[in-house]
This record gives sequence, C-alpha cells and structure tokens, in this order.
Amino acid sequence: MLQNKYLQEVYRTAEARNAGQPEFLQAVLEVLESLEPYVEKHPELQENCIMERLIEPERMVSFRVVWEDDKGQAHVNRGFRVQFNSAIGPYKGGLRFHPSVNESIMKFLGFEQIFKNSLTTLPIGGGKGGSDFDPHGKTDKEVMRFCQAFMTELYRHIGPETDVPAGDIGVGAREIGYLFGQYKRIANEFNGVLTGKGIPYGGSLGRKEATGYGILYFADEMFRCMKNDTLQGKIAVVSGSGNVALYAAEKATELGAKVIAMSDSQGYVVDENGINLDVMIQLKEVERARISEYVKRVPGSRYVEGCRGIWSVKCDVAFPCATQNELHLEDAQTLVKNGLQALVEGANMPCTADAVNYFLSQPVLFAPSKAANAGGVAVSALEMSQNAMHDSWTTEEVDARLKKIMVSAFHQAYDAARECGKEGNLVVGANVAAFIKVSQAMLAQGLN
Ligand code: NDP
Repeated sequence: MLQNKYLQEVYRTAEARNAGQPEFLQAVLEVLESLEPYVEKHPELQENCIMERLIEPERMVSFRVVWEDDKGQAHVNRGFRVQFNSAIGPYKGGLRFHPSVNESIMKFLGFEQIFKNSLTTLPIGGGKGGSDFDPHGKTDKEVMRFCQAFMTELYRHIGPETDVPAGDIGVGAREIGYLFGQYKRIANEFNGVLTGKGIPYGGSLGRKEATGYGILYFADEMFRCMKNDTLQGKIAVVSGSGNVALYAAEKATELGAKVIAMSDSQGYVVDENGINLDVMIQLKEVERARISEYVKRVPGSRYVEGCRGIWSVKCDVAFPCATQNELHLEDAQTLVKNGLQALVEGANMPCTADAVNYFLSQPVLFAPSKAANAGGVAVSALEMSQNAMHDSWTTEEVDARLKKIMVSAFHQAYDAARECGKEGNLVVGANVAAFIKVSQAMLAQGLN
C-alpha cells in the first residue's frame, strides 16, 4: 500500500490512464512501492514529474501486419513497439510473438526493461515489442512471410543508435534471421539493428545461453553472499523449456544442482535422475516438439498434464522461466511448505504480486527477474559493441563479462536494499539501484 501522497496520485492517474492493463499496473505498483522511501527524500523528483514521466512511454507504435499462409490465405495480426525510456541509451528490449501479446503486456515488459538495462551498467534504454502472431504450428515459410511483413513496418522506427530489438518468447534464431534479412533489404544497411543474430552474420558467441547462464551466476552469488552456501547438491525445478529455461537448467547442472522437473505450456516432466539436457535441447530447440515426448525417450521419467502442478514438485531452488504470472500465491505456499530455500525469477514477472510478497515474508532468498535475468540483454549490449567495432569476441571473453555483470547486478541490488534499511530485500534493492541511475540521467537532460 502506497503511503506517500505524491505516489498515490501518480498511481491513481496511472490506473485511470491505463484502464484494462493489469500487467502494466502490477509492474508500476511494485516499482512505486519500492521507491517510496527514496522518493520522500528527493523532492526534485516530484518537482520534475520524474515518476509520471517514468511510467509514460516516450513513444508507442501499433501497426497492422498482413501476411499470407502456405495455402494463399491472408491473415492480419497486430504489431507493437514500445519505446519506453531512452535516458541512459538507445531503446533496447526483445520482440515477443505470442497470441497473448497486447498493449498491457508490451508496456509491462518495456517498463521492466528500463530497470533491468540500468542494472547491467551498460548504456541501454528500455523498450519492447512484438505481435499476437503465434509461431506454433506454422511452417518456416509462413514464419518468414510474417517476419518480413512485420519488419516492413517496424524498420522505420528502429536503428543501431535508436532502438535495437532482440528475441523473447516465440522469437528465436530463426525469427531474428528473417527479421534481419528484411531490415537489410529495405534499409540497404548491414548494421547491428537487431541482437541475437546468428554467429555468421554478426551475432555474439554466448548470446543464446546468456539469459539462462546469467540467472545462475546471479543465483550462485546470492547463495554465497546471503547464505554462505553454493548450489552444489541442490534440487532444482525449472519451469518452461524455451531459450531461458534450457540454458538455466544447463548452467544449474554445471554448478552441481540437480534439475528434476521442466515444463512447457501443456504440462511438465519429472525425472528424479536429473533432466537429460541433451534430450531436452534436441526436443525443444531442434525438433520444436512437445515436452511430453521426453518420457518416450528417457525411461523412468513421468509426464503430467497442466503446467502449474510443477510447483508441487519438492525442491530447494525454483526457477520460473516460462512466462508472466505463472506462479501464484498457493504455489508459493506449497513450495515453502516443501522446504524451498530460494526462488529465482528467470521469466519476466513470473510470480504474482501476492506470491512475491509471501516469499519476502518467509525465510527464503528471492531474486527478482529484473536483476536475475539481465544477462540476456547484457550480452545483447555486448553484441552491439562488437558490431559497432566490427569485431567479435571469444565465448570465454563474453562469458567472463557476463559473469562480472551478473555479480555486479546482485551487489547493486543487495547494497541498495541495505542502504534503504531493507537488508535482503532484492526487489527493493534492484528497483532503487536501477532507478537512481535512470532518474539522475532524466534530471540532467531537462524536461523532455
Ligand atoms: P521461449 O519462447 O523460448 O520459451 C518459452 C517457454 O515457456 C516455452 O517452453 C513455452 O512452452 C513455455 N510456456 C509458455 N507459457 C507457459 C505457461 N503458462 N506455463 C508453462 N510454460 C509456458 O521464450 P524465452 O525462453 O525466450 O522466454 C521465457 C521468459 O524469459 C519470458 O518471460 C521472457 O520475457 C523472459 N526473458 C527472455 C530473455 C531472452 O533472452 N530470451 C531475456 C530476459 C527475459 P511451449 O513450448 O509450449 O510454448
């Protein structure tokens, strides 16, 4: 509950202006609550309408995307790009292709991206985009035609020094390739306008693994610093089986944890011997098959329909890596009852607000997504640097930088929380640390 009159008014106006956008309002409220003590000490924020400006995108475009399927039937989807905040650098954030995409989801993701990008310490502002197009069940040719139609409109709004999109749910290497090809054709420029590109045409080594690995570097540092412990021997559950989940599971295994359950949007598998990641990567990344296929290839594993049941699997560390609001209060209570030691958010805002508050009230480590999953965008920014220099770095070099960035993101959040008198509350810490840098840049740049 907000106590500060100014912030109450900011939130009331946000509710009126963004009616019917629950995800966006959820993200805004969490940030305003975290920043309350800081805002009270800094009257210049109110004088300059910093909070009002922070929650209003600098620009948002929505456009029609018309494409043709393999049978010659035309289809219409809606495309978006939210350019939320460019105080500390060009807009940067992924593109999501999923039927659930709407203005609220675009704005919550773009808003969160401002803070995440600030925590990377790299010069990138916040943005996000996407479409309600569903790549599931489409042929490669159909996906290509959709991407070409989408980029034919988007290209006029982006650029390597203006706005640099990347992947997100439903947008992986294949989609980025088609999007980049179309951009190059229309703009007649080969540049770093997209990240997550293939290695042969300007992609960064280590980008594919970066979000998942980064989550584990953050978790590892959190265990060391806050529990004087490591992930060695911990039982882990990872929801999702997309880009983030697969590489989070891979690094968790490398760090000595045993991942015993993973999911997709239809159900989850439990493998008490530890998920066989070669099989899982082959199924989900290469064959784009359902996760239920896993049990046909790995004896002793079991499949359960429905995804939320995954939170009833007993574990020490849970990594929700699928989508927003996938973990509810009851799931949080079940996890804690089963002995959970840490919850590390891999997806963006995967826990509902009451689930987050419950975790924070328990003796459980809680890593918020805007800090823990910043590794993907961090390596995207490293890809931008390599493109700008017409250079490429080795996997080891990129990974070492990623690790340093994630350790720093943890300490920024941890130290800021302590300075606010909220030791151990990384939600408050991440929001405050990220906000200080963005708000100082906004103040320095005058009213705009
Ligand atoms: P992908 O499209 O690669 O994978 C998403 C996965 O989540 C799929 O396995 C999908 O299943 C599953 N899924 C979707 N909805 C549900 C659900 N309700 N319950 C369980 N599983 C579900 O996306 P990413 O891995 O790229 O993204 C995952 C999350 O991480 C998102 O929140 C994204 O915003 C965030 N993120 C991604 C980054 C990146 O670099 N890719 C960077 C930072 C954050 P199915 O296969 O059935 O569709």
